[in-house]
Amino acid sequence: MDCIFCRIAAGQAPARVVFESPRVLAFEDLHPQAPVHVLVVPREHVDSLWELVDGALAGELLLAAAEVARSKGLARGFRVITNARRDGGQEVEHLHLHVVGGKRLGRMLPS
Ligand code: AMP
Ligand code: ZN
Repeated sequence: MDCIFCRIAAGQAPARVVFESPRVLAFEDLHPQAPVHVLVVPREHVDSLWELVDGALAGELLLAAAEVARSKGLARGFRVITNARRDGGQEVEHLHLHVVGGKRLGRMLPS
């Protein structure tokens, strides 16, 4: 399987890493949609939130997102998003949380 986020997690593809722990990695999004746009991923491959069953890993991912927000100074606010599967708009099929902030964000969904 050729998964770009698995390759990043294995150190076989470049990324600007901002947070690391034994099971979780966070790195800058290649095409940022806000002044801060970081992706938080499990090092092990999970397709999407639909497939996630490991509660400890779920907790580690969410805590990593919070740590990224703090380390980026997002005290004014931020958003954590995960797109899952086709209707969710998921493009990279390796579970990831988007941490976005650094500006006043618009509505969560287009109305
Ligand atoms: P999603 O649509 O939720 O699957 O989001 C995928 C995200 O991954 C997009 O925001 C892309 O800009 C980002 N992305 C794709 N490839 C890379 C990469 N090699 N390094 C960093 N971000 C990436
Ligand atoms: Zn993967």
